[in-house]
This record gives sequence, C-alpha cells and structure tokens, in this order.
Amino acid sequence: MEQKLRKKMVSGWPSLSGISLYFVLVVLCVAGTLYFFSMENAEREEKHLQLTTEQQRIQLRALTISFENIADVIFQNHINRDEILAIMARANSATEEEQTRQRELLWEKLSTLYENLYDHGVRQFHFHLPEANSFLRFHHPSFFGESLQGVRHSIERVNETRLPVRGFEEGKNYYGFRNVYPLHFQGKFVGTMEISYSFLALRKLAVRVFPAIYTLILHKDILLNAVLKSEQSSYRQCFISESYLKHQDVVANIKKELPKLNIIPFQTLKEMNKTLGRKVEKRLLLGQEFSVSHKVPGGDKILLVTFLPIKNVKGENVAYFISYKEDSYLLDFKNRYMRIRFIVTCAGLFLLLAGGLYHRQEEKKKKYMTLATTDSLTSVPNRRHFDLVTDQVMREAKRKQGVFSLVILDIDDFKKVNDTFGHEIGDQVLMSTAALLRSTVREQDLVARWGGEEFVILLPGTSAQQACIVVEKVRRAIASTPVMADLDTIMVTCSFGVTQYVQHMTKEDLFKKVDMALYQAKKSGKNRIICT
Ligand code: GH3
Ligand code: MG
Ligand code: MG
Repeated sequence: MEQKLRKKMVSGWPSLSGISLYFVLVVLCVAGTLYFFSMENAEREEKHLQLTTEQQRIQLRALTISFENIADVIFQNHINRDEILAIMARANSATEEEQTRQRELLWEKLSTLYENLYDHGVRQFHFHLPEANSFLRFHHPSFFGESLQGVRHSIERVNETRLPVRGFEEGKNYYGFRNVYPLHFQGKFVGTMEISYSFLALRKLAVRVFPAIYTLILHKDILLNAVLKSEQSSYRQCFISESYLKHQDVVANIKKELPKLNIIPFQTLKEMNKTLGRKVEKRLLLGQEFSVSHKVPGGDKILLVTFLPIKNVKGENVAYFISYKEDSYLLDFKNRYMRIRFIVTCAGLFLLLAGGLYHRQEEKKKKYMTLATTDSLTSVPNRRHFDLVTDQVMREAKRKQGVFSLVILDIDDFKKVNDTFGHEIGDQVLMSTAALLRSTVREQDLVARWGGEEFVILLPGTSAQQACIVVEKVRRAIASTPVMADLDTIMVTCSFGVTQYVQHMTKEDLFKKVDMALYQAKKSGKNRIICT
C-alpha cells in the first residue's frame, strides 16, 4: 500500500532502468540511422562508379571506332587501288633490286599522303609481303626486310584469314591501335598493309571531346617481350603498379597539357598515383574494369579514376586505359552525407543530454518528495504523508462503503529509556521499533511515525476484529524482541489503541476514538491492546 501510493505520488518518467533503456534506444537509433545512411552512401557511390566505368568504356569505344572508320576510308580510297596493289604484286616475285625500285615507287606515290595523315594522328603506314616480311615502313623507310612472324600476331592472322584485323597491339618499335588489311591484286593475295594510330592521337581527340586526363599503362612483361632493346629506354616505371610501364612521350604530353585542363597539377597527379596504387593494384592484376573515387591530396576535389583493360589482338590484357575526371556529383553527395551524419550525431547527443537532464531533475524531485514524506530518524512515512493517505483511504471507504482500521501505539515508559541509556540509545529504540513494525504488518498496511515515541498503522479493508489479530502479533513481536544497544539489551513494550472506521465518521472522530483506546490501554497497565 505504502509502496504503491508512494510510487503514485512521486512517480516520474524515466525511472533509473527507464533512463538506461532510453539511452540504449537513443544510441541504437543514432547508430542505426548512421549505418543506414552510410550504407546508402556506399551503395550510391558504387552505382555512380559503375555508371562512370560504363560511360568511359563507351567513350573509348566511340573513339576507337571513329579511328577505325577513318582508317577504312584511307585504305579504300588510297591503298586499295590497282596502281598500289600492282606495285605489291610485282614486289612479290621480284629480285632484290626490283624490290628496291618498287619500294621507291610506293614511297613516291604515298609519302605525301602519309605526311598529311601523320599530322592527324596516323603513325604507321606499313606494307608487308605475304610471308609477313616488312616491305616498307613509312615511319622508318630505311628499315625493312625482316620477318614479323611471331612478333605481329595481327599480320599473321590476316595472312591466314585474308580478312582485316583491328585492335591494340604491341610491336618492335611501338604499340598502337592497328588496322591490318589484306591486299589482293587480280584475285591474288599480294601482302598486307597496316594503318595504325598512336595512343597520343587517341588521347588528343579524347581530351577535345571529353576533357579529362587520359593515360595508358602497358603490361611490363608483355611489352618488353615484344619491343626492341633499343626502344626499351623510352618506357618509365608506372607509379600505380610495379607490373606496368608508361611511355615517356605520354608522360611528357600529359605534363605539357595538364595546366590547360586545370584539373590537378602534375606533381599532385604523381603523388596521387602512388596512393592510388595501393587501392587498385589487386584489381589491375586481375584485369578488372572499374572506377574508384579518390580525394586529391591537399584539396577537397574528388577525382573519378577509371581503369579500362585493353586486350591485344591475341586477347591478352596488355594495357590499361586510365582516365581521371573531376566529379562534382560525388563531392556534393559526400558533403550531404557528412551533413546528415553531423545532424544525426548532434540530434543523438542532444537527446542523450536532454534525457540525462530530465532524469536528474526527476531524481531530485523524487528525493525531495521522499524527504518531505519520510521521517528522517526511522525512515517510515511521516505524519504528513499518513494524513494524505488516510484522507484518500477514507474517501474510498466512503464511496465504496468499505472498512478500514486505525491503530495508534505508544512505547511504554520511553522517558525511562532516555533517562537510563541516553537520548541516542532512545533513538535506536525508536528505529528498531519502526523496523519491527514494518516487517510485522502486511504489505498493504501503512506504518507511520505519528510523533515522539508514537506510531500509527492504517489497515485498509480490515475490520477492528481482524486488525486486533494483526496488532496482537505486533505487540508480541515487540515485547519479545530485545533492542541491542551497545552493551545494553533493552526490552520494550507498547500499548495499542485500535478502532474501525464506520460510515459517516469524520477523521477527527476516528482519531479521537483511537486516542481514547490508547489512553485506556495505558491506564489499564500498558503492553496491551484496546479495541473499540
Ligand atoms: P508512557 O508509558 O505513559 O507513554 O510514558 P512515557 O515515558 O513513554 O511517556 P512520556 O510522554 O512521559 O515521555 C515520552 C518521551 O519520549 C519524552 C521525550 O523526551 C521522548 N522522546 C520524544 N521524541 C523523541 C525522540 O525523537 N528521541 C528520543 N530519544 N526521545 C524522544
Ligand atoms: Mg507518548
Ligand atoms: Mg510512551
């Protein structure tokens, strides 16, 4: 009863266990929200990277197709003509001297065209005899006659299939995007002819159409296997991966063009490549196609770096086409995510703080309420609290025609205890008596200190007759339980007045009646109960 009522009077939310639960919930909610947003962020970034890869692949494909188309036009209009094909047919079965004459004739007919095309990115105009022997290189006319068997797979395939072959291929002098065509004169196969573009030509067009940084890195082992020893010094180690090289002309070209692009300075690109390497090396070794986002060192720019593997005509992953492009979408998205993270964390901290403060205030309130309703010496409810409860029980009894009993008890000869053992021991006796009372009455009964050495007990739903049975138990317990105080053992007895509430009785009537009963108990010899 006492606990129930006290709870009702001082209850405040959250309680101690409530506040722990509240803290756990706030932390879980904040962690959950942050996790959700981080997953969404990662998912969006991944999708954006995939789209970028796809877009870059399409761009590269569009560029290579446009070069292939131009090569086809050149071949059909300038090479695949009888006067050129006849030269190759004569060279096929000619003496060395005659071959030299035919070579010179070919040079005479096409060198001006080659010079013009060179300015538009065509690097190689190379004629071969049917056995894949070099006949005339327009980029290196004095170097001819050697066999390209085993070195130039594309030429071998055209010899076998008599169909054009296109694709990226490393070579003795250089690597490039090649188009090799079969040459037929009067129905007879008379050799092959190659029109190739360098990566720089492709890069130049790419920068014009889709401004970004483009580079090409080449697989070290495959490249060094094909390229002439004298040419190997033109390649530099790539910062991104130990397994890849890059051509010095490409590096020089990027260095020259970077200021115009206004994306990042050359030195920053170098530094970035070193850190990028750790991120991507594994995927490079697996030959994967992918994009990564990378924060530019010392700035807040984000670059999207796309790696597109390039296969040679044999189908080996021989190079990577890499693009670095500025990306404001990802930057905006990351900034938004950081803002959300900040707001959610702040909201979480605010809720924790507010909850903590509210809890502290409630605890204080609870403490003051307890202090205001509890007797400080004996820790049982005080008279004020007992009055409130009695009013409430009385109202209920009136409304429901119910009963309750009231008990008042007074320690017998307490003055003597004080006088004999001292006031402090007297206090101890009061405390022990209160504790004994609380432990002896039923849970629904309310024990309170009435004042001095007097206590009251309220027994809801109990008649005087039933109350007397409870009180007799109490009386016996007190009388038979010695109070141990220092070296002294003090025996205490109490006198009790018991009365029952009857309808239409006022509170004053009730207390008057019970006081009278106590008085009679004292008068008739103490340590007894008078029930009225
Ligand atoms: P009776 O059997 O007739 O009740 O005699 P009594 O001595 O118990 O009653 P009396 O009214 O003469 O004395 C009560 C004493 O209780 C007087 C007072 O000093 C003492 N007292 C009241 N409050 C406290 C308290 O908080 N602590 C202590 N130690 N004594 C108290
Ligand atoms: Mg008294
Ligand atoms: Mg007394």
